[in-house]
Amino acid sequence: MDNARSQELFEMAKMIIPGGVNSPVRAFGPVGLKPPFILKAKGEKIFDADGNRYIDYVGSWGPMILGHARAEVVEAVKKAAEDGSSYGAPTEKEVVLAQMICDAVPSVEMVRMVNSGTEAVMSAVRLARAYTGRDAIVKFEGCYHGHWDGLLVKAGSGALTMGVPNSPGVPSDYVKSTVTACYNDCLEIQEIFADIGSRIAAVIVEPVAGNMGLVPPDIEFLKLLRRLTAEHGAVLIFDEVITGFRVSYGGAQEYYGVLPDITTLGKIIGGGMPVGAYGGRRDIMKLVSPSGPVYQAGTLSGNPVAMAAGIKTLEILRDNPSIYSETDKKAERLEKAFNSSAERYEIPLHVNRVGSALSPFFTRQPVSDFKTAVKSDTRQFAGYFGEMLRNGIYLPPSQFETMFVSHAHTEAGIKTTEQAIGAAFLRLKE
Ligand code: PLP
Repeated sequence: MDNARSQELFEMAKMIIPGGVNSPVRAFGPVGLKPPFILKAKGEKIFDADGNRYIDYVGSWGPMILGHARAEVVEAVKKAAEDGSSYGAPTEKEVVLAQMICDAVPSVEMVRMVNSGTEAVMSAVRLARAYTGRDAIVKFEGCYHGHWDGLLVKAGSGALTMGVPNSPGVPSDYVKSTVTACYNDCLEIQEIFADIGSRIAAVIVEPVAGNMGLVPPDIEFLKLLRRLTAEHGAVLIFDEVITGFRVSYGGAQEYYGVLPDITTLGKIIGGGMPVGAYGGRRDIMKLVSPSGPVYQAGTLSGNPVAMAAGIKTLEILRDNPSIYSETDKKAERLEKAFNSSAERYEIPLHVNRVGSALSPFFTRQPVSDFKTAVKSDTRQFAGYFGEMLRNGIYLPPSQFETMFVSHAHTEAGIKTTEQAIGAAFLRLKE
């Protein structure tokens, strides 16, 4: 596989962009390889600067549930750009997307658009603190909520993969109100509430954790979070930046039937354009400026091109509900391929899957939290990853990230991937 042009671009990039990338995990550090530089993408495939093509399971880290460059979405983006790409003034498109989100996500009565998941989370926490008049935030080990200082503690995703869950530059004073707990641990969270319940402004959780690899919730854990926060007057925030419109049209809250007070969204609601949003109960959201005193703003928030991509994407998902069952089935096939190849070649493996999101962990024991996730054999993961890439399968380059299957994955693409899994596991065995 020729990768001369990508290598050349990477060397040039490293001179002028820190690490050569604009988001750390893209540099392929955890798997000890150099990243292909991407030229274009269509449907299930991405194409690099050397003319190689891959079947893509990164999906831009979640947004591309319909696959790349879907014709209707491209058309909507073109049309919006022709009408002017930003006005800094209210538009009908913002109202349409806000209404679609309120209609879809069971607990959301009002919503504010921002530009990224990080911004959504940062604003949601500020709002929860203002609403409760308290400071403490509880987060869970291995959950990633973007790179905002206050939650960059025991974080997942790149912060876990790069081995720096606590970033330098975050003042210790800043995170002294951030309490961390173990995901899916019902006992510990009860103890925390018993100790400091009256000081807790919010519990923030990924209702399906996607940033230590995919880790499904124990439904009793989610229900307990709901009960404890309600009893102690704290706000429950579901960070649905990944799960929103992914695990079902109404997100994880619809899928598991547990409703938070505030929800953060991103990824799919922008159809591949930069977007985030936070929404929830009307009485809480009304505190946001200018209807209330909690300040939050954005020059490009509600950007018309991003709104157009989001509206079209959600329209397609809403009007074709079988997209979810069809995409989930494709992911189920991959789950089976992982398990049968692991069995055949005696590779220790545990696969977690929720709908169209999945992670093969190179460990024999079930993965239910951060501690069990990090027991995975990351060297074996790197070996598997390299083989898959050589066979034209583009995966998230870390054991602690999630694979996303899109509706655009074809029968042929899934078959090729199944075969590549078998071939990669055979090589691991040799
Ligand atoms: N929350 C979760 C659950 C995420 O997975 C991410 C990013 O992957 C974020 C928040 C941050 O979103 P963004 O990268 O758009 O800032």
